[in-house]
Amino acid sequence: MNPRKKSRTARLPGGPGDTVPCPCGSQRVHADCCGPLHEGAPAPDAAALMRSRYSAYVMGLHGYLLATWHPSTRPQQVDLDVDPSPRWLGLEIRRHVPTGPDTAIAEFVARYRLAGRAQRLHEVSRFVRVDGRWYYLDGDFPASGSMVTAASDAAG
Ligand SMILES: [Zn+2]
Repeated sequence: MNPRKKSRTARLPGGPGDTVPCPCGSQRVHADCCGPLHEGAPAPDAAALMRSRYSAYVMGLHGYLLATWHPSTRPQQVDLDVDPSPRWLGLEIRRHVPTGPDTAIAEFVARYRLAGRAQRLHEVSRFVRVDGRWYYLDGDFPASGSMVTAASDAAG
């Protein structure tokens, strides 16, 4: 994608280098976390794909979002340039449950701020693996305030 440039320094301060904390909140640097996935490496599991898609939202990686969306449900485009634009604050993966050899669900809460107001996106997403690569399929939005599961593993 990027035109090949001769670089004298390995890391440019402020650039999209390999030392930025990953937006997904893993406490790892981007290059050690979602970075390889953003560059085309297959996600090891649905939770990793979930994280990398959240990071892609934060970083504005339209192409990655589309590339990891299952063709049967993929929108024509992902519009991240909405106004007002959300300010993403963090991701919490609550559950990651393999439901078959090539299917999984992941429940997550993404927090963001929109026009100064705190918002939460709570979704149970379905993922499917095709030819060794995980794809986002679709998601349900659990009714807020109701306990879908016991969530006993929330501390883990
Ligand atoms: Zn990450």
